[in-house]
Amino acid sequence: MTTQATDPGRTAEANRRIRVVARGVVQGVGFRPFVARLADELGLVGHCGNDAVSVFVEVEGRSRVLREFVKRLHDEAPPLAVIVDSSVTNISARGETSFAIVESRPESGARTLVPPDVATCDDCVAELGAADDRRYRHPFISCTNCGPRFTIITDLPYDRPATTMAGFDLCPSCQAEYEAPEDRRFHAQPIACHDCGPRIWWEGPAGRIDGDEHVLVAVQEALAAGEIVAIKGIGGFHLACDATNHEAVARLRDRKRRPAKPFAVMAPTLDSARKIAELDAHGERVLVQPARPIVLLRKRGGTRIAEGVAPRSDEIGVMLAYSPLHHLLFEQVPGSDVVPPRCLVMTSGNLADEPLCYTNDEALSRLSSIADAFLLHDRDIAVPCEDSVVTLLGDSEIPVRRSRGYAPLPIALADDGPTVLAVGAEVKNTFCITRGSFAFMSAHLGDMGSLESLEAFERSVDQLTALHDVTPQVVAADMHPSYSTRRWADEYRRTASVDIVPVQHHHAHVASLLADVGMIGTPIIGVAFDGTGYGCDRTVWGGEFITVGADVTRFERAGHLESFALAGGDAAVRNPFKLALSLLREVGIDPDLPTLDQVPAWERTVASSQLSAGIGCVRTTSAGRLFDGVSSLLGICHRVTFEAQAAIELEAAASAATSEFEIGFEQVDGVVKLAPLVAGVVEGLRSDAPVDEIALGFHRALAKATAEAVAHVADRTGIAFAGLTGGVFQNRLLLDAVREELIGHGIEVVTHHNVPPNDGGLALGQAVVARASINAGQRFGKD
Ligand code: ZN
Ligand code: ZN
Ligand code: FE
Repeated sequence: MTTQATDPGRTAEANRRIRVVARGVVQGVGFRPFVARLADELGLVGHCGNDAVSVFVEVEGRSRVLREFVKRLHDEAPPLAVIVDSSVTNISARGETSFAIVESRPESGARTLVPPDVATCDDCVAELGAADDRRYRHPFISCTNCGPRFTIITDLPYDRPATTMAGFDLCPSCQAEYEAPEDRRFHAQPIACHDCGPRIWWEGPAGRIDGDEHVLVAVQEALAAGEIVAIKGIGGFHLACDATNHEAVARLRDRKRRPAKPFAVMAPTLDSARKIAELDAHGERVLVQPARPIVLLRKRGGTRIAEGVAPRSDEIGVMLAYSPLHHLLFEQVPGSDVVPPRCLVMTSGNLADEPLCYTNDEALSRLSSIADAFLLHDRDIAVPCEDSVVTLLGDSEIPVRRSRGYAPLPIALADDGPTVLAVGAEVKNTFCITRGSFAFMSAHLGDMGSLESLEAFERSVDQLTALHDVTPQVVAADMHPSYSTRRWADEYRRTASVDIVPVQHHHAHVASLLADVGMIGTPIIGVAFDGTGYGCDRTVWGGEFITVGADVTRFERAGHLESFALAGGDAAVRNPFKLALSLLREVGIDPDLPTLDQVPAWERTVASSQLSAGIGCVRTTSAGRLFDGVSSLLGICHRVTFEAQAAIELEAAASAATSEFEIGFEQVDGVVKLAPLVAGVVEGLRSDAPVDEIALGFHRALAKATAEAVAHVADRTGIAFAGLTGGVFQNRLLLDAVREELIGHGIEVVTHHNVPPNDGGLALGQAVVARASINAGQRFGKD
């Protein structure tokens, strides 16, 4: 934060007037009301207001009081405010008699930051349950400190007419609160009540039901009967069912065509979350954050949660209720004898591989094959935003999906640069727009396979560029020629006549990590382990040691995992047994392993002959595929139905081990050898070691080999600083082990904090590389 403070005055006698301008997240977080209260308290006159850039304040009074005002403005700013910079200047006194909040002044040009959505605050939850409150059981209760923000904003500056609440005129009582500086709802844009707010209703097989309590009873009855209900939420629809009902969960899996990928659950309170998962103080802190992410936690044994919620996994994704409607779903409706759910499966309202549904019409048509009924409301969602996901690491957390509650908060970059649109990757897509010294990541858009997802991508790009009022000067994209985002970027380049900067996938991962930890320009050895990335030699990379020096636009592939054959591309990804056969073949071990007997002989024969003929085979250094192959070798998972399933199940097995089957390792000139790893796994099987102990031994051996390879690169380059990135580092066991080994080698290690290590964080790295390459060729100063 930079404060160019001019001393408000040295003569204590006369009144002076100052103008304070604060930039940052200052709209929609109660900043103006806070300023008004502070001014009132200190007996200062003047005014404050928003423009599209900032909050501006003019106050008049004694110098000493003005100084106190400026200090407290920073020290006591509302919890959700983030002041990025501010300035104070002296202006001439006007002699007003009161303090006022003035009208917003729409302006083109630079824009203020949009706040993210915030979970219902404790005060509102208390009012929701207080029979004498006028918002008792109101499904849309909110205040200055909570409620939807990003998802309802249609334009800036952030004021009610620029939100999807524009159509709901405030009733006299709400209007009075909105105008009362001492009220918790003073100038809170989304506020409403039973008289003037949005409505919920129910669409079921028997028709429509209106009236809050009738609707809630209908939902609870349906959930208790094991039905699947599509529920409109903050950033889109959820598909919900009773998490303790095995048949309901199985039906949801069947209808959503999602056989095994874990579902997240929602619990009403911290107490109820404790019954589902193992929670320490850190986990609790993360669960109750205003962003209310899904937190990946260790399952508790002997719970009533259906096994089908997160099958074959020792983890479960848990989030707490974050909207008033969620809180009401878990409460018994007065006068009703229907028992409310204890815990709900709450999964994204979409069909596999399709974008999230967020309008009523879309949900009613696209989700009708999954949901038995719909809980709808008439507050529109302007920007779809899925639930965020985080995993805990030591006393920090690593984002797995950065979306609701975080988007669209920017990542601060060190300096100004051109406006870049980075289109991201093919899976877990997010894109990134830079403006000035900020990088804005979009909400999670998901996999780009379908036309629908590409349309959602395009709509979201239009929305975010309009919201920030920017026109990209350059587009950054992955080098992969057949990524849909890359093709979109090529098309965009033709119509918008901008340059395109292709960025190698793992280079982008490492640059993303550097930007995430604010260390662009610091030489680093990036360990980029993921599933797939298009390599400079046109093979499939994914186990890379990438050095980036002071110039972030350049990188060297300093080492990698030894390559092996990927037979049939996508087919090998879906069938890890093909990877197991390939690994055995590479290192010259007879593929006659009992663990592979579970795969029909003819399929193994086909795969083997494909490998020996080399037809349709590409070489890969992918760490993700290595994990998949080892998972199959150990008989854990031969076929997957969702990305990284085999690797996740291998990690789960290793995590359950109490001792380790030791496996050897070797690296030569920065290349991690496959032979000792694969031979070690096979030796474990032949000596009848427990599978979980072999799985753990494999994790440890790979971590040691990785650390030695990095140490080798460090010796050669003099860089004793490493970063762990790529989706494989969502594997906490591996992450911990590699980090520990590197520290043992005297190498400092950084990991992600703000954006995911997986492809959901890739766009940030692309943007950073593209900006730097333009900055290098052309000077872009502040305008
Ligand atoms: Zn509130
Ligand atoms: Zn009202
Ligand atoms: Fe990747």
